[in-house]
Amino acid sequence: MRYLIISDIHANWEALEAVLAATEGKYGQILCLGDLVGYGPDPNAVVEWAREHAAMIVRGNHDRASVGLDNLEWFNPVARSAAVWTQQELTPENRDYVLNLPKGPRAVAAESSGGEPAQVCLIAHGSPLDEDGYIVSTTDAAYTFPYVEADLTFFGHSHLQGGFFWSRFQAGNLGRPKIEEEGVGLDLSPDVLYLINPGSIGQPRDHDPRAAYVLFDADQRCLYYHRCAYDVEKVQAKIRAAGLPDSLAERLAVGR
Ligand code: ZN
Repeated sequence: MRYLIISDIHANWEALEAVLAATEGKYGQILCLGDLVGYGPDPNAVVEWAREHAAMIVRGNHDRASVGLDNLEWFNPVARSAAVWTQQELTPENRDYVLNLPKGPRAVAAESSGGEPAQVCLIAHGSPLDEDGYIVSTTDAAYTFPYVEADLTFFGHSHLQGGFFWSRFQAGNLGRPKIEEEGVGLDLSPDVLYLINPGSIGQPRDHDPRAAYVLFDADQRCLYYHRCAYDVEKVQAKIRAAGLPDSLAERLAVGR
């Protein structure tokens, strides 16, 4: 089976909608790595969509913050004001769903189409060792890999598309995929461990404003990094109309 892997949607409905349109019919299930809400202007639309469509999901730090599970002191002023706004905005049903999102990492038995033994992957928001931990450097990855109990882990939180590998007790950086039109493929080698970040749907920070995602083919043991343009200006207008901090609108145009 093929899986659509998405993370850090951050209440950006237009970005999510564009990715769903671009991937229609190309996957069997969706795995979501958390941060449905926070920063963006459409928390209810995104949560309602996730309630219906995300087969497996873990919570993110902004999900916790938006339902009062976290002390907002840890957030910078912009993230804090967006979290407070989201708290007021979520409907009781959506709030309840976010409140009960499971903590990562979670194991997913990725099925092959022919019913062969499933490959177990992990999904996590931040590090598989700490849901709030950032994995951004090869050093972070080298510290993490020896404790990871799966060949393949999908993680988010940094909003940086890419990932790391572990081979012969050494960690390496897979690098930032350079995506023009088609996706960039990566064949997964046996005997190598991978930490894969699909990037962020709703607030990319790798200097490419297009929404980021990954398609994983469990039969072929390969994955494809993708980017997808969406109507950034429409989301910026919604952010401003909602009275959210202007910097949240500005950063979407530059992807940082
Ligand atoms: Zn995030």
